[in-house]
Amino acid sequence: MISKGERVAEDVGRVFDIQKFSLHDGPGIRTVVFLKGCPLDCAWCSNPGSRKLQVLQVADGVHPDVYVADSRDFSVAEVVRVCLQDQPFYEESGGGVTLSGGEAMVQHRFSSRLLGELRSRGIHTAIETTGYAAPGIFRRILGEVDLAIIDVKHWDPDQHQRWTGVRNDLPLANLEVALAAGGDVLVRIPVIPGVNASLDDAAEFCRLLAPMGVRDVQLLPFHQFGERKYELLGWDYAMAGVPALYEADLVDFMAAFADQGIRAYV
Ligand code: SF4
Repeated sequence: MISKGERVAEDVGRVFDIQKFSLHDGPGIRTVVFLKGCPLDCAWCSNPGSRKLQVLQVADGVHPDVYVADSRDFSVAEVVRVCLQDQPFYEESGGGVTLSGGEAMVQHRFSSRLLGELRSRGIHTAIETTGYAAPGIFRRILGEVDLAIIDVKHWDPDQHQRWTGVRNDLPLANLEVALAAGGDVLVRIPVIPGVNASLDDAAEFCRLLAPMGVRDVQLLPFHQFGERKYELLGWDYAMAGVPALYEADLVDFMAAFADQGIRAYV
């Protein structure tokens, strides 16, 4: 059992969800493995409990005073077994397995072992990452995935710090490493009202990303799917009541990217 501050064993990972038949986390039909632990503290986080590495007790939402664990420990073999159940779908659709979180590089030894096992079976691998990881760990994991999906949450270091708890220097340095490595990289921007959703923000994102050679970005419009999770955890939610964004709301935002030669899509 992993506890806070304890070294995470290589072949045991703390997982809070394994989602099958995902169509939004890389190519084809995918299984997404959600790992606990994240060094960021995004105000809009839709998986708030995932930030903590330790197992949290969450209200079950049905019965008063009944709490359930939000995660449990899996062996690499156990996760591989679940992922292999859908191998025919991966082969048919060009899909595979995506590691997500949280930040999957927090449990980097487990992630490495899992990615190695999957790749040795010919399964396409991807990771969704904040890019906030020690450069050595980032480079190693980068070499173990077929696709790196890297978030850029704010173009401004101070605003990045304000809204996520950390500056953007490290994620951007790692993004540049990933782009230079020449593998498949997808840049994603969560578009959050009042944080980074203005047309000026779009222009600044372009000013940052275009010189790096980024030509496409996927936008993740703000949603409220996480709101209930804060209630069940009994935590305050900074974005309570903020209206969700939809693709139609981002037409001008996307056009501002297009003006700078970057294709932005939802
Ligand atoms: S990086 Fe993702 S998991 Fe971590 S706090 Fe931000 S939104 Fe939540």
